Parts: sequence; C-alpha cells; structure tokens
Amino acid sequence: MSAIDEVKQRLDIVQVVSEYVKLQKSGKNYKSACPFHSEKNPSFFVFPDRQSWHCFGACGTGGDIFSFVMKKEDVDFPQALRLLANKAGVPLDDQTSSQRQSQNKEREILFEINEAAAGYYHHLLLNASSAKAARNYIGGRGLSNETIKDFQIGFAPEGWETIKQYLKNKGYEEKELLAAGLLVQREDGSNYDRFRNRLMFPIRNIQGQVTGFGGRALDDSLPKYLNSPQTLVFDKSGSLYGIDRAKTTIRQNNQAVIVEGYIDVLIAQQYGYGNVIASMGTAMTDKQLTILKSLTRNLILALDADAAGEEAVSRSGEMVDKMLPVPPSFYGWVKYEDAHKAEVRIMILPSGKDPDEVIIADTKHWQKMITDAKPMVDFIFESAAAKIDTTSARDKSTIVEKLLPLLNEMKDPIRQAHYLERLARLLKVDEHFLSDTMRKFKALDKKRRWTAGTRPLAPVSTPISSSSPLEQYCLALLLQYPELKLECTALSPDHFENTENRELFSKWQNSEDVDGFIQSLDSALVEYANNLMSRAFPAIITENESVRRQTIEDCAIRLQERRLRSLEAQRQELLSIEAETGGTAAQLAKLEEQGLEIAKQLQEIFVKQNQRHRRVKSDA
Ligand SMILES: [Zn+2]
Repeated sequence: MSAIDEVKQRLDIVQVVSEYVKLQKSGKNYKSACPFHSEKNPSFFVFPDRQSWHCFGACGTGGDIFSFVMKKEDVDFPQALRLLANKAGVPLDDQTSSQRQSQNKEREILFEINEAAAGYYHHLLLNASSAKAARNYIGGRGLSNETIKDFQIGFAPEGWETIKQYLKNKGYEEKELLAAGLLVQREDGSNYDRFRNRLMFPIRNIQGQVTGFGGRALDDSLPKYLNSPQTLVFDKSGSLYGIDRAKTTIRQNNQAVIVEGYIDVLIAQQYGYGNVIASMGTAMTDKQLTILKSLTRNLILALDADAAGEEAVSRSGEMVDKMLPVPPSFYGWVKYEDAHKAEVRIMILPSGKDPDEVIIADTKHWQKMITDAKPMVDFIFESAAAKIDTTSARDKSTIVEKLLPLLNEMKDPIRQAHYLERLARLLKVDEHFLSDTMRKFKALDKKRRWTAGTRPLAPVSTPISSSSPLEQYCLALLLQYPELKLECTALSPDHFENTENRELFSKWQNSEDVDGFIQSLDSALVEYANNLMSRAFPAIITENESVRRQTIEDCAIRLQERRLRSLEAQRQELLSIEAETGGTAAQLAKLEEQGLEIAKQLQEIFVKQNQRHRRVKSDA
C-alpha cells in the first residue's frame, strides 16, 4: 500500500476537519458554516461514508483530507502529505540511492542502443539499394556528403523488423528496444519497427548523446515527421536539434538563431552559420530555454511570414491575435527577456520560403535578415502600427487590451515607460490615460491570479482508496501525449476524485513539459506517475493521432458527466436530510438552486456528447 493510501486509511475526515471547524451532526453527515467563505447558514458538509467534504455555498469547493488541509493550512500537496503522515504515524521514505543508480544504468543502455541504431541507419542510407530514393531526396535538398556524415543522417527501410533484428543480434533485449522507443508494441504484445521507409535524423543532447530520432516520411505516409516517443532519455520538449554542434558557435557569437526544420539546421551549418538550431516543431519550452540560457541570452526567432501575421491584414481583433503568434506566447517571451536580461529578436522569412532555401539562394540575404532582425516588442509595435486603423475606436481598444498586459509583464520600469509612451503615440491617446488603465489592469490581474490560486478543489464522492480506471486511462494518455493538453481545457483537478490522480493532473496542467512535471512531483508520487507513463496502449491509439484526440475528448466528457452526477447525488441526499431535520428555507432554496445549475451543466454535456457522436459517425 502506498503511503498516501495508508494515511487515508488511518485518518478519519471527521476527526481531521474537527480540528479546524466546529462540526454539527446532520443525519449521518456533518455540517458547519464554511471555513472558506463567510456565511450565516451552514453549507459546508462532511461525508464520513465517502471521506469527503463539499461546500454547497458560494465557494463550491470540496475534496478529501488532503485538499482540506492544503486549503486550510495554505500548503501544497507534499507539505499536506507530510503533515498528515506525521499525524497518522506513517513513515515517508524518499527515493533511495539504489533506485537512482538503477535508473542511471537504464539511461546508459538507451544511449548505447540509440547510438547503434543511428550508426546502422546511416550505414543503410549510404549503402542500401533500397535507400536510393532517400539519397536522391537529400541530394535534391542540397546536403553535402560531409554534412550527411557529420550529422549521421540515416535511412529506415520499409521492413517491419529491420532495426529490431539488427539490435537483437547485437545482444539487446526487445524490452530495451521498446524502452528506447525504436519498437512499437501491438495489442497482442508483439512488436515492430517504429520507423519504416523514413529519412532518419538522430537527435542529440548538448553532450552529443543520441537521445532519439526524427523520421521524415519518404512517401505520403502520415505523419510526415515522426519523432521518438517520450523515453527515459528523450523528451521532445527538452530537445534542440543541432545543439551539440552549434553550442560552441552560439557561445562565441553570443547569439542563437532558432528555426523549425532539421534540414534548415543542416544547410545553415554547411554554409558556415554554425549558431542555428531547430525547436523540434514545438513552441519553445522553458526546458529548451534553460539549455540555451547557459550559452547565450540573445535569441533570434526565424518566423515565416504567415506565422508572423504578415498575411493577416484584416482590421479586427483577430488580426491582433495573429500578430502575436510567438510561442510560448509573447507574454512569456517578454517575461523571459525581463527575468534573464535577454533579448529576443524576430526575423521574418520571405513568404513561402524556408531558411534552407534562403541560404542556398543567397547567403548575403540570410546575413542581412539576421542583422535586420528586430527586437520582439518593437516588431509587434511596428506590425500593429502598419495594420491598425487609428480612427477606429474598436481597433484602438483591441490593441490596448492586447498590449497592456504585455507591458505589464515588464518588470523594468524604464522599459515599461518607454513602450507606454510609444503606445500612446501610436494610438494617439493621452499617456496618462494609458498609465491609468494599466494601473487598473494591474489590480485586476492581481485579483485574477489570487482567485486562480484558490480555485475550488475536487469533491470526492467515492471511497477514495479505489483509484478510478477512467482517471488513470485519461492521465496515462495525457502524460504520454502532451499535445493532447489542448483537447481537455474543460477539465480541472476537480474532475479527478482520487487524491493521487488529482495531484498529478494539477501538476501536469501547470508544467511546460514532462521533465518539469516529474520534477514538480512529490517523491511519493513519482513511481505512480512513471507507471502511468509506461502504460501500453493499443496500436490504434499509438499510431493514430485523430483516434487519440477522440479518445481523450471522450474521457474528458465522461469525467465531467461523472462529476456532475456525483454532485447531484450528494445534493439530493442533503436536500432530503435537511427537509427532515428542519433546515432553514434559505438553505433549502440554495440547494434547489444548485440543482438547477447542475442540471443545466449536465444538459450541456449531453449536447456535446451528441455532437461528438454525430461527428465521429460522419467521419467513419
Ligand atoms: Zn464555502
């Protein structure tokens, strides 16, 4: 049994809550005035059967002993766990050094396997007759033999067991090849090569170790680019393609240019621009920035004209949205610049051209684009100036709405004043008016952050010790496919009843990438999280992005429905008890009102479900 389960088993929620709140019996449950919002009539209930609590009043929060202590003591989950474990006399042991050692060993083996695979794929590209199309393709893209050798570009042939057989003959076990992400497991437990008929780009960390691969399809297969999955050594969101080769030049030039494609990096290197790296097609993450920070604080982002919003000329709020496309959101970049005394500049590629094409066509042009790259905020201001209609009140207020929060992120008052003045000039409004609005915005922002921090915690309506398979399935999918984050914005930690699951979801929601997520976890949860991350899914899930998306949507809807139903069950129960034991009219009315709200939300879920079913049917 885990320490968390043991704590739950040894402590009774009525006892724990009673230490903070004077409880009054109500049927088989307990009630009191809510300790988290001020009220006259008690709407805070404790349910001993479910070992949970819920406030049916203004704050609508609920949960188990952990969430109660977190909220009452204003501590995070690890602190609440320590506090309660201490109370229950449950010893907590953090990860032992032998566990860490065995993990290091596992990592070593994965690096070895990847190195061997990279060598073999490279050998096949140079020699195999089946690699002719691949050789033609890279020749056509202008890559020299030297570059191909330097970066160990490779070829994965058509077969289902090429790399598997090669590496098994070298003495590696299938289990290890699966862990390296080179094989994919079928539902029946058998497995096959993940990369087939693809041009292979070994991805290395800053030390030069091969962590994973990017494979480009050589036919119409989808996805066009296939990456290694998350492994012990590969984390896409923490990888920068080319960083091992570029690091010295980046440091010498004190500047890094960030592009999107593998071949962009290769061509740049080939033509002597050694400070170019690729972001792996994802928005830059904190983890990638941390790697770069040790080399330079001067970043240039190469954006294509579309992404930079050059094409989006519509005079509407939408235009401004498109104007701020820069991940991890422009606000994040400004904060980054401020926090690290960094400068982020933007370089706009000619419409429809990739960096490699620009370099091959004319290196002087590339050089000039680098020199002309504009500081990010200036770039935004200039784009805005070019596009807004300063006679339109609506344009003006959209710009203010977009840019003030941005300026608000600037902690350097001189920098902030500089741009505030510029904004006033741009919009032809009084600067005092803008600084006034900014002050109001600041107050509002503070309040918003405060409310977000005290968001309602989850209500618990089933015995907490049994972990829900639906919750686990949903979490395992999310942890293994972080890009699904976008599909479940409707979910909150409230939708997870199990303590561990709720904590995992809330940490996952607040982390940039899987590494950050694992690091943010209390050690009592790491093993559980690792189990979820290595849970095997059937091929229909692993191989098909749209099935994955549908599945997670389904999970999200079911979790929402389940939560509403359990709230409704609690409410019904209370309503009957309160009616019997003579609850006040106001209290009964409040419970009725809550019922209407729940019914409305359930109705919305049903509509969503129906729409989904229709869509899935019409897709099929
Ligand atoms: Zn309350």
